[in-house]
Amino acid sequence: MSTQVLIAGAGPVGLTMAAELARYGVSVRIVEKAAQRTDKSKALVLWSRTLELLDRSGCGSAFIAAGHKVDAANIVAGNKTIGHVTFADVASPYPYALMLPQSETERLLETHLAALGVKVERQVELMTFADKGDAVTATLRHADGHEETLQTAWLIGCDGAHSTVRHTLGLSFLGDTLQTDWILADIHMSGLPIPDSEIAVYWHEDGVLAEFPIAPGRYRIIADIGRSQGDHPSDPTLDQVQAVVDRRGPGGLRLSDPIWLAGFRINERKVKDYRSGRVFVAGDAAHVHSPAGGQGMNTGMHDAINLAWKLALVCHGAGGSEKLLDSFSVERSAIGEQVLANAGRLTAIAVMKNHTAQMVRNLAAGFLFGLSPVRHRMADTMAEVTLGYPDSPLNGPSAHGLGGPAPGERAAPVAGQTPVGAGSTPRFALFAAPGEAVSALLQTYQNLLEPTVRPPFASGGLWLVRPDGYVACVAKDAVVIADYLRGFT
Ligand SMILES: Cc1cc2nc3c(=O)[nH]c(=O)nc-3n(C[C@H](O)[C@H](O)[C@H](O)COP(=O)(O)OP(=O)(O)OC[C@H]3O[C@@H](n4cnc5c(N)ncnc54)[C@H](O)[C@@H]3O)c2cc1C
Repeated sequence: MSTQVLIAGAGPVGLTMAAELARYGVSVRIVEKAAQRTDKSKALVLWSRTLELLDRSGCGSAFIAAGHKVDAANIVAGNKTIGHVTFADVASPYPYALMLPQSETERLLETHLAALGVKVERQVELMTFADKGDAVTATLRHADGHEETLQTAWLIGCDGAHSTVRHTLGLSFLGDTLQTDWILADIHMSGLPIPDSEIAVYWHEDGVLAEFPIAPGRYRIIADIGRSQGDHPSDPTLDQVQAVVDRRGPGGLRLSDPIWLAGFRINERKVKDYRSGRVFVAGDAAHVHSPAGGQGMNTGMHDAINLAWKLALVCHGAGGSEKLLDSFSVERSAIGEQVLANAGRLTAIAVMKNHTAQMVRNLAAGFLFGLSPVRHRMADTMAEVTLGYPDSPLNGPSAHGLGGPAPGERAAPVAGQTPVGAGSTPRFALFAAPGEAVSALLQTYQNLLEPTVRPPFASGGLWLVRPDGYVACVAKDAVVIADYLRGFT
């Protein structure tokens, strides 16, 4: 079989998936039914954790060079700033939110993928497929109408909210469409009394108005405008957006030169299982939610990074393949639930309509945002550095009393150090003091371990860290690590 993995969809998730697999030496094809990349700004934010994960493949700096750094978010109610959450204290080499239109994110990912020798096959649509047990047979339709039948070992549906892969598998997309209409504007704006390195969210009695800087003078504006009317939300005019901004914003704002005006509704849906035999779904194909918190695309890209190293190990003949591949759904579905719940909660709080409830909300929020641990926690949550896999079936033993990160937790990268998971094969990293037992481990498991040991998080312990930067197990004895790794030989 010349294609090990077929990826349907070249949005940010499919592109990330293809790049990670290609980097790890897996032969991939990525097909995309659209003729061109999106030219819309859609998902705007790359959070700290996403930048950390991109850094593993050496392409993070291109994103940082192209993006606009935002270091704080303000919540304003009744002309008073009741919350100021700064990202500067997020414990990451990237303590900020990087604003970058999705069109640019996709362009940079596609450039990175091309450098790895993989070209997106445009105007090629996945029509149908069948999982035969030992391979997947897929039917692709090309631009000239001819159909190609392809055998692939694995198929990954990164084909968005209306996923052909999800439909063909018959996976239920459980959840709701919220009955509120929203407007979105990607627009030029002047007069904001807040630096263009900060986000502003206005809680007004009519609803919410949020302003995200995209670049100097250019902003994303979103606002809820009331109960849904008709089958589809209509796109706003510049005057309508200006009127909402005048009423809910700080006053004196001047909008001009819209780049994109759109109406939208929020869907909150998710599949239960992200894997069915040789087929996977990731990104919007598996979960869609409110844009509040800006987590949708980031979560999808993390899905891709989670699956890619596991699938690469399996493609390279690792043992324990079922356990590895099943863990993708367990780990990412739990994160999907969390992100859905958080985004839903943020949206519900922002769009409260009852006047008394709004007053209580504003008072409670004013109090809570006054507490520095709450502000820190919120910044860390948005930056996605607190996410982890505490209940993962891949978590190995955890020696007590050592301190340092536990199995399932993120091993925070250190600025200037090669990230775990970098390089051309997926390898675990060992954080331990050098010694005979450690050298023997490196020798025995050289296919699974980075060749160099890294300093331990605390003395007396050994930490085994997965290629996606989460701790696999913690031990006081190298034998425990050897037992864990043996499962993948
Ligand atoms: C108006 C709007 C505003 C948004 N704002 C935000 C935001 O602020 N923050 C945020 O995080 N997210 C936001 N999102 C969501 C974000 O855009 C998505 O989460 C993200 O695009 C998901 O990426 P994906 O790769 O999973 O899917 P998509 O980007 O949808 O990509 C899927 C790709 O698959 C292709 N495809 C579909 N079917 C097939 C097939 N059968 N064969 C081949 N190709 C196929 C499609 O053409 C598409 O290119 C917004 C979305 C919209 C529409």
